[in-house]
Amino acid sequence: MNIIIFGPPGSGKGTQAKRIASLGFNHICTGDLLRERKFALGTGDLVGDDVVISIVKEKLEAHKGDNFVFDGFPRTLEQAQVLKELVDIDAVFLLNVDDEELIRRVVRRGQKSGRADDNADVMKKRLKEYAEKTYPIKQFYSLDNKLHVIDGTEPIETIFEKIKRYVENKG
Ligand code: AMP
Repeated sequence: MNIIIFGPPGSGKGTQAKRIASLGFNHICTGDLLRERKFALGTGDLVGDDVVISIVKEKLEAHKGDNFVFDGFPRTLEQAQVLKELVDIDAVFLLNVDDEELIRRVVRRGQKSGRADDNADVMKKRLKEYAEKTYPIKQFYSLDNKLHVIDGTEPIETIFEKIKRYVENKG
């Protein structure tokens, strides 16, 4: 089974994806993979599709047959189209959180993480990238009947229970 955790920066994708990994999924987080490779992510601009797609392909090749949870990928229609050719996606969970709350969360996270892009200024750019390039791919998955919209302001455990119920019923 392969699932995508979809949502804006600060919506809790990483938090949920880590929990889902404990159910037996291989966690693919493109933000972490780019940071490991020392990409400069301080501006909030998306990294080019070719780069991100090749990193994901490498991971999928190296772990053939695993169940995957994608976190922060796909972020563009091009990425979503390529992913469709690579693996079957069973479900996409969209975590909805309003912009004000997202900015509050990311600024708070930045105080601990020290990430150059976790601040109110860069967040504006990240939210713009999300609205323009990422949010539209919601449509791609809703046409395929894969989309599950979740209120991302609910408690972490409540959200996880919803995803877990889906995984256990389907698996
Ligand atoms: P994240 O840790 O998911 O918030 O990602 C941090 C930054 O990494 C993003 O703001 C982008 O610059 C870059 N990034 C992560 N995933 C992708 C992706 N799938 N496509 C393009 N850029 C990405």
